[in-house]
Amino acid sequence: MSKIAIIGAGSVGATIAYACLLRGVSNHVALFDINRSKVESEVLDLNHGLQFVPPATVEGSDDVEVCRDASIVVITAGAKQKQGQTRMDLAGANAKILRELVPKLMGVAPNAIYLLVTNPVDVMTYITLKLSGLGAKRVIGSGTVLDSSRFRFLIARRLKVAVQNVHAYIAGEHGESEIPLWSSASVANIPLHQWAVAGHGKLSVMDRSEIFQNVKDAAQQIIAGKGATNYAIGLATAKILEALLNDENRVLPVSSLLMNYQGISDVCLSVPCIVNSGGIDSVLPIPMNEAEMAGLRNSAEQIRAAIAAVGF
Ligand code: NAD
Repeated sequence: MSKIAIIGAGSVGATIAYACLLRGVSNHVALFDINRSKVESEVLDLNHGLQFVPPATVEGSDDVEVCRDASIVVITAGAKQKQGQTRMDLAGANAKILRELVPKLMGVAPNAIYLLVTNPVDVMTYITLKLSGLGAKRVIGSGTVLDSSRFRFLIARRLKVAVQNVHAYIAGEHGESEIPLWSSASVANIPLHQWAVAGHGKLSVMDRSEIFQNVKDAAQQIIAGKGATNYAIGLATAKILEALLNDENRVLPVSSLLMNYQGISDVCLSVPCIVNSGGIDSVLPIPMNEAEMAGLRNSAEQIRAAIAAVGF
């Protein structure tokens, strides 16, 4: 298996490492953080659990050399939202970190696929693409994989069906301008707008708007209670890493550079993509109604403005 380097050993980075170990995603996980005592302590704690997971090596350092020759570099380093802040509010601070970090990482892992998790993730994906000079297939953002998982969970709970039987995507920005793709949502191939099953209800217009609001508010709700979101993003990222490392051709709503997609070009945002060992294999032409398409274009504009505001 191939080496994964995780940049940032905070709540998100450490939980991604933990999820990868539990699932046996890779047998070599390296963590890098500028906070030496934090990264060393997280690695020690993870190492003490190795007896209970598939065989793996975990190492960590405040020296970027620890990332040398990684196949995939996962970037989680940077500022996180405080209560009341949007993800876009983090753009300036985190762009500054990436300006320093990406050239250093390219020095030790020039052939890696880069997976961005740091927020605002669409902006950070675009910046990393530009700073690294890598091809667009090899720079990916975790995008709306997490939001789509929140969306499916809420639909599944309302309709009393297993979350794995719900197919529904959140597209666009991982943030305020994201959009729910209701028109293509389905349960067991039954379009959601046709779903009416005794004992399993159906979704009213009010239900839909509540569900979507809940998806949008989820991060703030969790941050208010515990200061950070980590478990679901840890699992979502482990899933993306599995798709990459196992050449799965898995469809995931990750963030990538769009070119001539529904009139959208030169911006990173999420739509369902086929992900395999080469990174982004294909961006899928998921059907959208007029309102969804307008929402996606608006989202692209918001992200483009944030990219321009940080000088890219
Ligand atoms: P955290 O504060 O717990 O951890 C951030 C870590 O980054 C810290 O340990 C810090 O020392 C480290 N760091 C800062 N600058 C660095 C540098 N130059 N090099 C290496 N390490 C550096 O924050 P967190 O809760 O782990 O969140 C991390 C990021 O992930 C935030 O931007 C947050 O918004 C984002 N996030 C994204 C998603 C998503 O779905 N994409 C979900 C949750 C969180």
